[in-house]
Amino acid sequence: MTKKELFEMVKNLEPLCRNSCRFIWNHPELGGAEKESADYYRQVMADEGFVLVNEEKLEHAFYAEYGCGSPVIAILGEYDALPGLSQTVAESKKPVQEGGAGHGCGHNLLGAAAAVGAIAVKRFLEEEGIQGTVRFYGCPEEEMLSGKVKMAYHHMFDGCDIAISWHPMSGNMVYDSGYLSSASAHFEFKGRSSHAAFAPELGRSALDGVELMNVGVNYLREHVSSRARIHYTTDSGGFAPNIVPPRAGSWYFVRAPYISDVKEILERVRKIAEGAALMTETSVEMKIDYGCCEMQENHAYADLAYKNLKEAELPVFDEEDISFARKLEETIVKTDVAKAHKLYGTEGAPLAAKLADRNLYEKSPLTASSDSGDVSHMMPMCVFSTTCWPAACSPHTWQSTAAAGSPIGEKGALSAAQVIAGIAYDLYTKPQIREKIMQEFQTKKEDYTPMYQE
Ligand SMILES: [Zn+2]
Ligand SMILES: [Zn+2]
Repeated sequence: MTKKELFEMVKNLEPLCRNSCRFIWNHPELGGAEKESADYYRQVMADEGFVLVNEEKLEHAFYAEYGCGSPVIAILGEYDALPGLSQTVAESKKPVQEGGAGHGCGHNLLGAAAAVGAIAVKRFLEEEGIQGTVRFYGCPEEEMLSGKVKMAYHHMFDGCDIAISWHPMSGNMVYDSGYLSSASAHFEFKGRSSHAAFAPELGRSALDGVELMNVGVNYLREHVSSRARIHYTTDSGGFAPNIVPPRAGSWYFVRAPYISDVKEILERVRKIAEGAALMTETSVEMKIDYGCCEMQENHAYADLAYKNLKEAELPVFDEEDISFARKLEETIVKTDVAKAHKLYGTEGAPLAAKLADRNLYEKSPLTASSDSGDVSHMMPMCVFSTTCWPAACSPHTWQSTAAAGSPIGEKGALSAAQVIAGIAYDLYTKPQIREKIMQEFQTKKEDYTPMYQE
């Protein structure tokens, strides 16, 4: 079978791809609660003859396997949605359900393309009688940056040789490296309650602890790597102002280019928390929930992904798509729209239809984090994107939710499924390419332990 014929096979799977994109988009489930989404893909893969392997301790995680022997290729799928991003496929902000979840990161497309890509690869292995194994990974909790870390902790990636991943985005491009390493930590302050007017001297405010800690961390920002990100929220609602708050908590994300930086910064944040507790005569406990790694760069693998983006059929948008994209674009600040057009070279067209330059990722790095970073430390992993929303759209917005539910996103997903199948085709049939990727991986490999404990 030629690669062209494999691409054709993916094209014939368009109804499955579209139905999957739509089903998951219509059933947005938050990380940790992706029951319907995971079950949907379990069914799809089982119907195709894949063998399911579930992890008892991670209800919505699984992999579906077909074939035998090496190489074992892992195709990463995700399906969690985001809180508060419920949105209809409309050109203005209009939630399906006020305050509900929505697919603002396009994981409805991400999982669909990965599943369809895996199915095409399975049919290819079957028809050609080629030795090798393909696994579709159903990965929950990506938005919480924890799913794949927990899966790694439970050894669900054992036995894999190489991984393929993608993400819906504003352009057709590859990323050699990316994803800031990240960790999540909770701080719990405990003080002493008292009547705030009658006996203020008896109270020790846990909320003061939280506030002073945040002030301290804001001073820390000047003295960490400029690529580090520190953000927090607090659940310190307290009771009424006349009750000195006896408990208050904050939740921090610390991100930096490398996991070693994250650990260092977290240690300094811990010292600040302790300082705040000392100042307020409260106590504080820090609990690190989990952390995820940056992506291990692999240029040989990114070259292969780029070659396949060149060979595959990129999404072709019709007048209706372009007009919808333009209306979404009109809701975005004009200067931001102009910046996006400059970056993607779209010259005023709302959708980036062409293949981006090989190294565009240097100008548009993945400064968010993903638990996929952990996978890249266990085996070589590539990441590419296809155009699934307007160039000026950021992920995690109502505009990206709308586009991910429209034919724009669905076309991007089908194209991504072709690229996935094409990459796998080369990995199975061209051992010298695989070898080159493995060699680069081995020279850069560092010890890896998932930053998670049960
Ligand atoms: Zn996201
Ligand atoms: Zn995402």
